[in-house]
Amino acid sequence: MAGPAGAGGAHARDVAALRVDLLRWYDDEGRDLPWRDKPHGRFRRRKQPDPYRVWLSEVMLQQTRVETVRPYYESWLARFPDVAALAAASEDDVTVAWSGLGYYARARNLHRAAQRIARDGWPNGRSAWKRLPGVGDYTSAAIASIVDGEPVAAVDGNVQRVVARLDAIAEDVGHLAGRKAVAAAAGEFVDPDRPGDWNQAVMDLGATVCTPVPRCPDCPVAIHCRALAAGTQDTLPVRSARRAPTPQDVHFGMVMAEGRLLLVKRPEKRLLAGTWALPGGESATRLVDHVARQAGLHVSVSESAASAKHTFTHRVWDMRVHQCHILDVLPHEPAWEVQWVPLNRLEAVGLSTAMKRALAAAGLPVV
Ligand code: SF4
Repeated sequence: MAGPAGAGGAHARDVAALRVDLLRWYDDEGRDLPWRDKPHGRFRRRKQPDPYRVWLSEVMLQQTRVETVRPYYESWLARFPDVAALAAASEDDVTVAWSGLGYYARARNLHRAAQRIARDGWPNGRSAWKRLPGVGDYTSAAIASIVDGEPVAAVDGNVQRVVARLDAIAEDVGHLAGRKAVAAAAGEFVDPDRPGDWNQAVMDLGATVCTPVPRCPDCPVAIHCRALAAGTQDTLPVRSARRAPTPQDVHFGMVMAEGRLLLVKRPEKRLLAGTWALPGGESATRLVDHVARQAGLHVSVSESAASAKHTFTHRVWDMRVHQCHILDVLPHEPAWEVQWVPLNRLEAVGLSTAMKRALAAAGLPVV
């Protein structure tokens, strides 16, 4: 068992004992999550993990909290129970099922990856997983360790925090040197016999005990923690401040005809690509042009507008929704896909949370 006070005041490290202690805690106290096979509440008698469920959960959990993901995960599986069902679904069905979860590129990537898997079979190993759209460093490591038993560390912000504290890493994890130091330590810690459980155990520790304000008296690996030994657990990890999201004005045109609302599908490479939205753009004075180009309609635009805000990771949309009236149908094809949706069917369309906010501010029936 590790004890404090090695040579030069270093905290001696027994990695084998650290693994035993954390995995024992995980077996008894790990979170009961719907994507983990935990028959009879005991981890030790798990089945072989289902790659579809593990992959789906890891993609949903990218930048999204567990409690937000739970209901989406369940309803997604009811709708697309396996990879073949997802591969066969339409893009709109996939966007609708994802609606409200944010970062819509994830849904489109899942869909594309499902089509590839349905054709070529499941990837095996981290580098094969990483070739799928939407699967990066963290997600590929998490899936490969859980599904394929590959001994690789999955390092996200929570794991960074735990590892930086366990190893008392004082470098800024916002910089490359700090991230490398954390990645090296995380790689050293991974249990080669239970890598998937190890990664999930570290995630659980970060989510429930080694939280931003750590609960060290309850920690199953406190005896191995170099930050606790040095009294630096509250100051680690060092992370340079993130830049505040940049404000951006966005003006939308609300065009109605015969009880239907005009929506356009946001194209690739735009924020919220693949979701249905009101036509519009950054300039109020060019809103007529935006509607003409995107939807093929010449409209007049009201000056007054309903307003709403939505915050993305790097941007805050200050949204204005202007009433528009159709003056003419233009001869050219709309540049974006268009549909007219009855107001009582808005909930069935793949709307982003940002767009729901804008429509609700304009008095339309969306939740
Ligand atoms: Fe985190 Fe405290 Fe446990 Fe160290 S002892 S790993 S700082 S909770």
